[in-house]
Amino acid sequence: MSIVTRFAPSPTGYIHIGNVRSAIYPYLIARQKNGKFILRIEDTDRARYVDGATELIEDTLKWLGLEWDEGPIVGGPNAPYFQSERKEIYLEWAKKLIDSGRAYADPTPPETIEAYRNECTKNKTPFLYRNFRPENPPKWELGMPLRFKADPKDYKWHDEVMGDMHAGPEVQDDIILIKKDGYPTYNFAHIVDDAEMGVTHVMRGVEYLSSTPNYLALYDALNLPWPKFVSLPHILAPQGNKKLGKRDGAKSVTEYRDDGILPEAMLNYLACLGWNDGTEQEIYTKDELIDSFSLDRIQTSGARYDEVKLLWMNGQWLRRIFDEQGVGALYDRTRDFWPEVAANFDEDYKKKVLSIIYDRLKTFSDLRSMTDYFFKEPEIDLDLLTKNKFVKKLSEAEIESLLKESIAALSSLSEWDADHLQSVLNDLLEKTGKKPAELFSLIRIAISFAPFSPALNLTMEVLGRDKTLSRLNAVARAI
Ligand code: GLU
Repeated sequence: MSIVTRFAPSPTGYIHIGNVRSAIYPYLIARQKNGKFILRIEDTDRARYVDGATELIEDTLKWLGLEWDEGPIVGGPNAPYFQSERKEIYLEWAKKLIDSGRAYADPTPPETIEAYRNECTKNKTPFLYRNFRPENPPKWELGMPLRFKADPKDYKWHDEVMGDMHAGPEVQDDIILIKKDGYPTYNFAHIVDDAEMGVTHVMRGVEYLSSTPNYLALYDALNLPWPKFVSLPHILAPQGNKKLGKRDGAKSVTEYRDDGILPEAMLNYLACLGWNDGTEQEIYTKDELIDSFSLDRIQTSGARYDEVKLLWMNGQWLRRIFDEQGVGALYDRTRDFWPEVAANFDEDYKKKVLSIIYDRLKTFSDLRSMTDYFFKEPEIDLDLLTKNKFVKKLSEAEIESLLKESIAALSSLSEWDADHLQSVLNDLLEKTGKKPAELFSLIRIAISFAPFSPALNLTMEVLGRDKTLSRLNAVARAI
């Protein structure tokens, strides 16, 4: 039997990293087993529906490289893939339950249900609607809630992550199948859809584990086989013991994209948040993840979100792309991230800048703050110079003479490349008797006025002779 998995998000807002991991695991296992990965939009909660959220979900999956075999845009044999367009299908299935006496119209007004609930709270007993089930419900018609008629019993089932599970009758209730507005509940719709779409592995957040007995009762009442259940542990907030949520700063996945995180790094990071293959490996390509993924190595406890680790991984990926595919490939990814002042510079120049700075970037958005001085004349800030922990050991007269000596030595250089520049710098060290940290910090600040720059000889090579010398001269004059 071939594997069919699905990602079934609700378009209720932006899709944050806590949600999207529930797409990654079903995707990986489907690809590994040559199965199918379905995208289904669960948009039956009309009150929480947010315009544009579906497009955001689609963009996010595309950006991460999680292409779906059936679903919105691509279509498929089980279309439509929006639950709001499948109302007739749910009604047909609901009818089966009505006909077999397993579903009934619920005439109870919400205020009465509230009163039942309060009564239970007062008596310290759990509220179960089935204890208040009406004796002679009216014939069901659209506009009334339709409820399942539970036949509570013990259930045992196996969860591929959580192991053997067991629940008694006390957790089963007459859950709502179709709401007053004619839309099905999640509880009912997902069972119908998973069955119609041939889903073999229901992979979703562990928050659905406690409702599983109600779902099992529904499968049985509908004569449907149980799929495999795979409960995915939560991603935890950086602090405390709660699930990562929007309030803990869980950004939307596309925000990370806009901040310059690579999709490879995001996929890699999220896949390894709650799963490992038992080795020390940390960096995985998508293909490697597909090969090594296994359900039995998904961890049972929550995994903590750690942005520092994500940034580290992004740095690893930046270097990997540069090393394996060259500066051109990395450059192609950076287009939106250069500072405005870079707009009129040609690609070759920007590629040179990138090739000396890429290994210091955490994300592409660092390009904006770290490369300005390659594109515009830096403002001379003598404080930055004289307060530097190495330069401040030098007197003003020393600074002036060091700058002059450097200008003289560099001006006479015939070949302006990193190697020749390095030997001039080494000669200067010898001649002046200064420590590298002192002399090089002085020159570095004088040509960049930036808190950080790549190796001095590389920076000077990329800046070129004219800019380097004119900046050094300008500082020498200003001292
Ligand atoms: N629509 C549900 C959600 O967004 C999906 C749960 C499931 O995957 O079945 O949480």
